[in-house]
Amino acid sequence: MRRMPDVPRAKSAPQKAMERLGLVRDIDLALHLPLRYEDETQLQSIAHTRDGQTAQVEGVVREAQVELRSRRQLVVRLADDSGDITLRFLNFYPSHQKVLARGQHVRVRGEVRGGFLGREMVHPTFKAVEPGAPLPASLTPVYPSSAQLPQVYLRKAITSALARAPLDEVLPPAALPAGLPTLKEAVRLLHQPPPGLPLATLEDRSHPAWQRLKFDELLAQQLAQAQAVAARERLRAPVMAAVTGPSSLHTRLQAALPFALTAAQARVCGEIDADLARPVPMHRLLQGDVGSGKTVVAALAAARAIDAGWQCALMAPTEILAEQHFQKLVQWLQPLGITVAWLTGSRKGKVRKAMLAQIASGEAGLVVGTHAVIQDDVVFARLGLAVVDEQHRFGVAQRLELRHKLVETVDGTAPASQPGSGADRAGAAAGAAGSGTTASVPRLEPHLLTMSATPIPRTLAMTYFADLAVSTIDELPPGRTPIVTKVFADSKREQVIGRIRDEVQQGRQVYWVCPLIEESESLDLQNATETHAQLSAVLAAALPGCQVGLLHGRMPATEKAAVMAEFTSARMGVLVATTVIEVGVDVPNASLMVIEHAERFGLAQLHQLRGRVGRGSAASVCVLLYTGPLSDTGKSRLRAMAETTDGFEIARRDLEIRGPGEFMGARQSGADLLRFADLNGDTGLLEQARRVAPRLMAEHPAAARAHVARWLSTKAEYLKA
Ligand code: ADP
Ligand code: MG
Repeated sequence: MRRMPDVPRAKSAPQKAMERLGLVRDIDLALHLPLRYEDETQLQSIAHTRDGQTAQVEGVVREAQVELRSRRQLVVRLADDSGDITLRFLNFYPSHQKVLARGQHVRVRGEVRGGFLGREMVHPTFKAVEPGAPLPASLTPVYPSSAQLPQVYLRKAITSALARAPLDEVLPPAALPAGLPTLKEAVRLLHQPPPGLPLATLEDRSHPAWQRLKFDELLAQQLAQAQAVAARERLRAPVMAAVTGPSSLHTRLQAALPFALTAAQARVCGEIDADLARPVPMHRLLQGDVGSGKTVVAALAAARAIDAGWQCALMAPTEILAEQHFQKLVQWLQPLGITVAWLTGSRKGKVRKAMLAQIASGEAGLVVGTHAVIQDDVVFARLGLAVVDEQHRFGVAQRLELRHKLVETVDGTAPASQPGSGADRAGAAAGAAGSGTTASVPRLEPHLLTMSATPIPRTLAMTYFADLAVSTIDELPPGRTPIVTKVFADSKREQVIGRIRDEVQQGRQVYWVCPLIEESESLDLQNATETHAQLSAVLAAALPGCQVGLLHGRMPATEKAAVMAEFTSARMGVLVATTVIEVGVDVPNASLMVIEHAERFGLAQLHQLRGRVGRGSAASVCVLLYTGPLSDTGKSRLRAMAETTDGFEIARRDLEIRGPGEFMGARQSGADLLRFADLNGDTGLLEQARRVAPRLMAEHPAAARAHVARWLSTKAEYLKA
């Protein structure tokens, strides 16, 4: 693993491409296993090749010429004793023409098209060979690669790395499932399968060699998660013991709430309180269906932090949501004497400066905002708790940034003496901010609470999220009438608009959601703008004075906020919006949601959107308008929506329809940590890895460390996000 600190040599393009794939060490290359294999061990005679078959043939070039048909192309006629075949190249270089010149002896491999009269191959692979040159003895591996990294280059690099890579067994035999080969045997076999090995068991990855690799991979992941937990246990966080007297903010906030907590809310609050009272940073996910009341749980956690003399930061993925949180939290906390600051990307100039000063001085007990909250110039006096709402909506980079921010708070324990914005004020007010007892304790990391409406499926919870404590709100606040979901073809649009009129007439409010058209933001906009014009015209005639608003992602933030304010205050009856309202927006008086082109949305997204209604006591309806014909998955999504409003059931079906990839968000796109194992197919191996990991950590810690290093070292950073 140690690299020579020698003079830096310029890296070639393939070398850089290898690095981007994480192929740095010999062991990385050794563990970069084939996707599939090509059988180049056989030659066929040209006359015996069949249409649709992938074949390897060898012969002499009889003719080669550049033809100008619909496109300029190189056309080569290759013949052996049995017959001939045409090779066609739409992209070619002079070097290709040289190898494929008339009279050359070449070996080619590709898919055969056509039959007896005119066989051809389009873009076959080819190489010049001596007549009678031996065929390879084993199957040819095809590796996952990229455009800048040719297979031939990668094969060579892997073959030479294989000879050096440390593949000795580090795991004690007792830790391994019975009947599997050693790692070295397994790796060698998969890179260079011996002749005669049935391709099928390699390609469906059921071969014991594959089982061994998958087990090792799963075990490495379990160990890494366990190590992350252990490492966190060694960190120190502010102890926020419950303050219970009548003067405590927590008590006063609970008393001031216009409702009583549900049993589920009370339970998760208890779980969070227990974490906050420990001297170890909390790392907890609060999951609960849309509308289950996560915000108040976050507010109560913030109150605990403030009671203990610490600041709390609450981050939301969009400005709209941040603004909503801000308004709600101000309404709850301001009367109790707490200053709530608000930071978003669009807050600039004087206001921003004032906010930064409040944050740096500790005057702001709670800071609400978008990821602007974790920007460099935001310095907290005493950040003790960070809450991230809808955390799956943040990108990898932002999650890592947040992590660095939290860790940075560890190092900069004395923000009062930090240079930069608000330094003197921070110095003056740090003492006034709280009890002052903790300010001198070194290396404290804030607690972290993340919230999400998308529950993590079980197999994922067991693997990628095994290091995360999870609290679940499994009950909705009382008095909600379930949302009725109806699916209509777009031809029913007129009737749906009639329904809107009725709803608005009864003093209720309506969302009309237009889809995001990924290829074209402008089409997207046009869609929303047209719908807005149509609804405005129809409703203005039927209901004079009815305001129809428009909200989309490209509006300036202040305009967005103004529209949202109109809608929240119920002065606006109908809001036409793109998916910017998807996340978290809370207007309980809205009782009808129409989603246009519902077939274009994902299931989780539809569920999120639908969760914007059904928040008050009025019976709510969600209308899904679709434009046919529907694909099978489109049908199953709309059916799922009509059949259930249970977010956990929706998540289960979503997993069924889409596979686990989508759930992973940052963890997966950042680093595809499970390259070989399949969470649905390999549950047996997963269970075993889970059983083995803690024993291995306890009894063979060095082996555990070596195993993790072998598998994860270049990617470990992403695990923390
Ligand atoms: P989500 O979990 O989707 O973030 P919110 O926190 O936005 O849900 O809560 C949805 C609505 O329910 C809000 O209007 C909130 O004030 C209200 N609410 C939360 N808890 C309760 C409760 N225990 N009883 C009644 N209403 C509640
Ligand atoms: Mg929410």
